[in-house]
Amino acid sequence: MSLNILFAARADRWPLWRAPLQAALTAEGLAADLSPDHPPETADYIVYAPGGPLTDFTPCTRAKAVLCLWAGVESIVTNPTLTQPLARMVDPGLTQGMVEYVTGHVLRHHLGMDAHILRQAGWRQVAPPLASERSVTLLGLGALGQACARALTALGFPVTGWSRTAHDVPGLTCLHGDAGLARALSTAQILVTLLPLTPDTENLLDARRLALLPRGATLINPGRGGLIDDTALLAALDTGQVGHATLDVFRIEPLPPDHPYWSHPRVTVTPHIAADTRPETASRVIAANIRRSEAGQPLLHMVDRARGY
Ligand code: NAP
Repeated sequence: MSLNILFAARADRWPLWRAPLQAALTAEGLAADLSPDHPPETADYIVYAPGGPLTDFTPCTRAKAVLCLWAGVESIVTNPTLTQPLARMVDPGLTQGMVEYVTGHVLRHHLGMDAHILRQAGWRQVAPPLASERSVTLLGLGALGQACARALTALGFPVTGWSRTAHDVPGLTCLHGDAGLARALSTAQILVTLLPLTPDTENLLDARRLALLPRGATLINPGRGGLIDDTALLAALDTGQVGHATLDVFRIEPLPPDHPYWSHPRVTVTPHIAADTRPETASRVIAANIRRSEAGQPLLHMVDRARGY
């Protein structure tokens, strides 16, 4: 029997996803009718992304799972109509994109590239330190944090990772919990935030915690805008406590044209492009998860509603 798979994302996404999803479902041996037009009550699975037409899951009585195309699920996890199991996206293409974004921006700040690109350094022959002399802290040691940690460690950076629960990752200093956070921040010459946005992580980087960073530290936030108290960050940038912030995600997106981040000389804004879900690789993840579910196996990358990620 054919499965009805409802594609519930923005209409402009459908042409990008249709062929790779269909190919991946076929490769998994699944007979599936994939469409953005299935009535919700007829859907066996829902491929979901925020911004699409589906906001009320109450009619989706047949759906065995909602498979999110995004890694961050803060906008759906609190939806009270969602009773179906929810899986988030862990996609090799997305992970690779994040590794490239994070290593690129870490190296930019580590090497002080701006001074030369903007011709501010003249012929001042000051070589940057080696990676081994620049400590990097990653807040978040999940799929993305660990991949970035591996890449940074391979380049020679001493990397500290912080998470909710205890981890033991070879080559990293792993810390967790409140006491671990203070230590993780205190050594972070470059701080990268790869946490989900949950009630526990909202405004995590407030004035008190930003003050724990070494003076002049660089902040790179490709996690979520709500992790940072914006007023506190702007104040820390003004005093030089934070030397530069490279921000990819914001409380309001697109970042409003009059937001002070746009004009602040110590802020780089990137427009939520750190890591996109890639249809070719992510479709295989979606199809494999549906195949698992049909075989009675647990879904991969399940979201824990209570935890919020
Ligand atoms: P993940 O695998 O779920 O990992 C989340 C990590 O955060 C885990 O290490 C977790 O700790 C830690 N964490 C959660 N709550 C915490 C808390 N209260 N205190 C300390 N640590 C906490 O997520 P992921 O796939 O790595 O993705 C991380 C985030 O990146 C996403 O949620 C999304 O917001 C963002 N993202 C951004 C882009 C972009 O383009 N900018 C793209 C994709 C994703 P445990 O290991 O102990 O559970």
